[in-house]
Amino acid sequence: MSPLEPTAAEMQALTQQVLDLVVANIDGLDGGPVSLNSPSAELLADLSTAPPESATELAPLLELITRAAQQSYQSAGPGYLAYVPGGGIFTSALAGFLGTALNRYTGKVTSAPALVAMEQSVLRWMCDLFGFPDDAQALLTPGGSMANSIALTTARTLYAEGQVDRATVYIGEHAHGSITKAARAAGLGRDHVRTIRSTPDLRLDVEHLKTRLNEDRDAGLVPVCVFAAAGTTNTGTIDRLADIAAIAREFGVWFHVDGAYGGLFQLTARGRQRLSGIELAASITLDPHKSLFVPLGTGAIVVRSKEALRKTYSEEADYMQDLNQHAADHASDLPDFDSLSPELSRDFRGLRLWLPLHLHGVDAFRQQLDEKMDLALKVWKTLRADDRLDVPWSPDLTVVVFRLKDDDDADQLAFLKRINDSQRILLSSTRINGDVYLRMAILSFRTHADRILEALEIIRAAVEA
Ligand SMILES: *Cc1c(COP(=O)(O)O)cnc(C)c1O
Repeated sequence: MSPLEPTAAEMQALTQQVLDLVVANIDGLDGGPVSLNSPSAELLADLSTAPPESATELAPLLELITRAAQQSYQSAGPGYLAYVPGGGIFTSALAGFLGTALNRYTGKVTSAPALVAMEQSVLRWMCDLFGFPDDAQALLTPGGSMANSIALTTARTLYAEGQVDRATVYIGEHAHGSITKAARAAGLGRDHVRTIRSTPDLRLDVEHLKTRLNEDRDAGLVPVCVFAAAGTTNTGTIDRLADIAAIAREFGVWFHVDGAYGGLFQLTARGRQRLSGIELAASITLDPHKSLFVPLGTGAIVVRSKEALRKTYSEEADYMQDLNQHAADHASDLPDFDSLSPELSRDFRGLRLWLPLHLHGVDAFRQQLDEKMDLALKVWKTLRADDRLDVPWSPDLTVVVFRLKDDDDADQLAFLKRINDSQRILLSSTRINGDVYLRMAILSFRTHADRILEALEIIRAAVEA
């Protein structure tokens, strides 16, 4: 027998060892420092050895993995309030294990039609969440950046095929960096990414957008896509989606909503109200690894027209002819993901959503999101009541930004350091209108009122220090 094929008893034993580690890790998330990231030279040396020729036992390897994992931001824990958290629910990790252990091929319907149907049921649920028509199609991606890239590439292909050098895209000044990256990768010059300024409430200025579109059109350029934010990363602010949709329609350009952070708040009543207009988008980025709390590696894009994806990504290859012929013979509504996306071979990522959504039910996720909105409101009210702090914007969703009044940037960063030195919470900073602000992003399913009250206490102490 090959050592690559363990016996049933060995599989049980190996899995049990890994499971013990996972359980201990999850048990430990409540305590422990939130931001270790300075591995010792010995650890780095232990970790940088090349793979050996002969076998090693699992136990010492797991020990090494544990030591390596300890040296990280505790992004799975309740005190992680930096950047955009999520947490990573266990049952999705379990589905990930199951999916990779089954290792079936889901890039083509023919090779696993029923598994594709499972993934498609989750994708259809996403389309329905936004009232998208029957010929809409969603895709699971490795993250929101890839989803934004698919949107941009699709818009460029549809509207500027053969004239990419004249294509322009429009983003808000607080838009996510992945869009500019995607534009560059799609062959658009950096100077063809138009940054639209914000109104004082941090929302994309629709008048400025209109002006830029007019100027570009008059100059013989080809506007292809407007990106609006449904929750900017900085402040969780939602752009005026319906107004932007109307302008995009007027100019005949693709309207994409980047909802990587905020789009899934559509599951809640308050979120749905605030996201009004999102249903008019040509495509929407979602990030289940943020606001559905599944482990990192699962993003999504919801696209109004499946045909637009097909035009962009469909390709016939001789070595695929059997799979394609079979699909034609068994005409089904199920998608060949490979002909709608840049990927061919892919993991069965649908299971990482299907299992937890079925196991826990959608309402369990909705409740988490509602709780986070309540917590953000509580934080905003409490911080705003402190007259030593500047807390200018009420949260649309679950990000609160604040700074010390009248202090310079260095003081703000020292303030952040005093807070993070607590090792109980981790916040991050950003710049808005040129000034440094601290941000608290509440989105981990493990963050509840107890940690938030503690956070407010830590911030109060740091203000006084
Ligand atoms: C996180 C984020 C992205 C990028 O998503 P990844 O999953 O990190 O690739 C894009 N847009 C916004 C608004 C985000 O918050």
